[in-house]
Amino acid sequence: MPACPSCGTKIQSPARVFSVIVEPKEGERGLTERKVGMYQCPKCGTKFPIVVSRQRYLIIAEDQLKQIQTDLKALKRDHTELKKQHEDLETVLDRTKKESEVRQLETRLRSLEEQITYLKKEKGELEARVAKFA
Ligand SMILES: [Zn+2]
Repeated sequence: MPACPSCGTKIQSPARVFSVIVEPKEGERGLTERKVGMYQCPKCGTKFPIVVSRQRYLIIAEDQLKQIQTDLKALKRDHTELKKQHEDLETVLDRTKKESEVRQLETRLRSLEEQITYLKKEKGELEARVAKFA
């Protein structure tokens, strides 16, 4: 809430609001619309302006604007397409990970089977040795 520059009284709302179009300074593009609130202090009567909001406007040729809108649409399409491809890749990656896990398990299984075969052979040999002493 703005305060009176003379006595400091806070003032709730402007007496009126008007808009000012500001031409571009050198090196700037476009116009700026300033909404200015005119305040009047109820205590001492001082009038003072406060800029309520600013909006910049660029002047652009219609053809150029249409081109930008077309480009934007194409970009959005590309983005959607890329997102879909990304999701597809993640699915493939996920499947590949699972396949790799399965391969690892198969390798472990083979190694366990080899151990079992070896242990069975050992058992057989031990039994044969024990049979000799029996
Ligand atoms: Zn005042």
